[in-house]
Amino acid sequence: MSDETQAKTAETPAAAAETTTTRPDRPERPERPAGERRGPRPGGQGGPGGSRGKFFRRKKVCKFCTEKIDAIPYRDVRLLSGFVAERGKIIPRRLTGVCTTHQRRLTRAIKQARNIALLPFATRF
Ligand SMILES: [Zn+2]
Repeated sequence: MSDETQAKTAETPAAAAETTTTRPDRPERPERPAGERRGPRPGGQGGPGGSRGKFFRRKKVCKFCTEKIDAIPYRDVRLLSGFVAERGKIIPRRLTGVCTTHQRRLTRAIKQARNIALLPFATRF
């Protein structure tokens, strides 16, 4: 119950100076510091690469929506290869910005294209 007072002093050095007040009933805590809460996303840290701000940020609009492409042509290798990584993997939606609907169609198209050997399943380095 009273253990909080020690942890609090470690957090804020200003509170440590005020040792005269022995266990304040309600410490003056700022109302949810907005600057600190918004910093790192929960679960976002720990990945390989560390800071994700280093990646170049594309504008997140669905390419197929903007160009009004309804059915994604599986024969268009040049189009599809833009959504396939070097190793032949399909780039996730959160990196390319493709909307859900089109990503699903894109996935199908890529898989079709793989089947007729337009795209690689996996690049053997
Ligand atoms: Zn779309």
